[in-house]
Amino acid sequence: MKKIILILVLVLIQQTSFATEVNVYSARKEALIKPLLDQFTDKTGIEVNLVTGKADTLLKRLEIEGKNSPADLLLTVDVARLIRGKQSGLFQKINSELLEKTIPEYYRDNANEWFGLSLRSRVIVYAPDRVSVEELGSYKSLTDKKWKNRLCVRSSSNVYNQSLVAAMIANEGVEKTEQWAVGLVENFARKPKGGDRDQIKAVAVGVCDIALVNTYYLAGMLESSQKAQVAAAKKIKLFWPDQQGRGAHMNISGAGILKAAKHRQAAIQLLEFLVSDHAQQWYAKTNHEYSINPNIESSEILESWGEFKADKLSLGLLGEYNAEAVMLMDRAGWK
Ligand code: FE
Repeated sequence: MKKIILILVLVLIQQTSFATEVNVYSARKEALIKPLLDQFTDKTGIEVNLVTGKADTLLKRLEIEGKNSPADLLLTVDVARLIRGKQSGLFQKINSELLEKTIPEYYRDNANEWFGLSLRSRVIVYAPDRVSVEELGSYKSLTDKKWKNRLCVRSSSNVYNQSLVAAMIANEGVEKTEQWAVGLVENFARKPKGGDRDQIKAVAVGVCDIALVNTYYLAGMLESSQKAQVAAAKKIKLFWPDQQGRGAHMNISGAGILKAAKHRQAAIQLLEFLVSDHAQQWYAKTNHEYSINPNIESSEILESWGEFKADKLSLGLLGEYNAEAVMLMDRAGWK
C-alpha cells in the first residue's frame, strides 16, 4: 500500500511542479520563435514542444480539442486573435507579479488572460520622390482628396487593418470611422491585394505613393537576403502618423495560457522568460519588433526611425470592436 501511495505521489509531483515539458501552439513562424524557445530549454531544462500553424487554424483546433488539447500556451500575433481566444473561453487567468510589472496594462488583458510580448506599429510609408513629408500627418488625413489613386493597403480581411479600424472606432466612434473608411477607399490606387511587403513594393515601383504597413515588414525587407526586397525598401520612407494627436496605432504579438494546460507552471515560466530582458532584446534585434519593456534598446533599423508617440489605447478594446470594424469596412467598400 505504502509503495502505491509513494508511486502516486511521485507521478503527481512529476505532473505538476516539475514539468519537464511545455506544449506550445504558435502562429508565429518557427524561425521567429524557435531560437528563443531553445534558449528557454537550455536555461530551465524544460523541453518545448512546438506546433506552428495559421492563427485561425490553431484557434479552431483549440476549440475542437477542448479539454483534451495537449497545448499549454498559445502564441499569436494581433490582439484581435488573442481576444478571439479569450471570448471562446480558451484561456485561464494568470496572476504573475512579474508579467504585471513588466507589461504596461494597456498591452495586456484586464482579466490577465492574455499578455502582449512584443510591439509593432501600423505606419504610413511613402515615396520621398513623389511625396514630401510636410504633406503627411494623421491616419485621418489619408482621406484628403490629394491622395486620390495614390494609396495602397491590403484587404479588409487582414486582421491588422481590422485592428486599425477597431482602434479608430474606440477613439472616434463608428460614424466618424465609417466616413474615414469611405474616404480612404476613394483614394485607393488599386483593389487591395497582397501582404504588407507587397504594398511596400508597390510604392517603390510607383503603383502608389503611400501605403499603410506594419513596422517590422519594412525593417525585415531592409535586412533581407533578397536584393530586390532591399532595393524596394530603400526607395521608401517611414512616417509616424498622428504624432500631434493620439499617436501611432500599436499592436502586439502575445500569448495566453490555455484552460486545459497540463503544464501550467512551466507555461507561466515560459511566459515570464519571454518578457525577460534577454528575450525582449532578441525580439527587438531579430524580429525588429519594439520591446514591451521601454528600457530595452531596439534594433539599429528601428532606432534609425527615431522616437515616436504611441497610442496608449487599451488593446483589449480592439477585440471588442473587431466585428463592428469588419462590418464597417464592408459597408465602406474596402475589399
Ligand atoms: Fe505580420
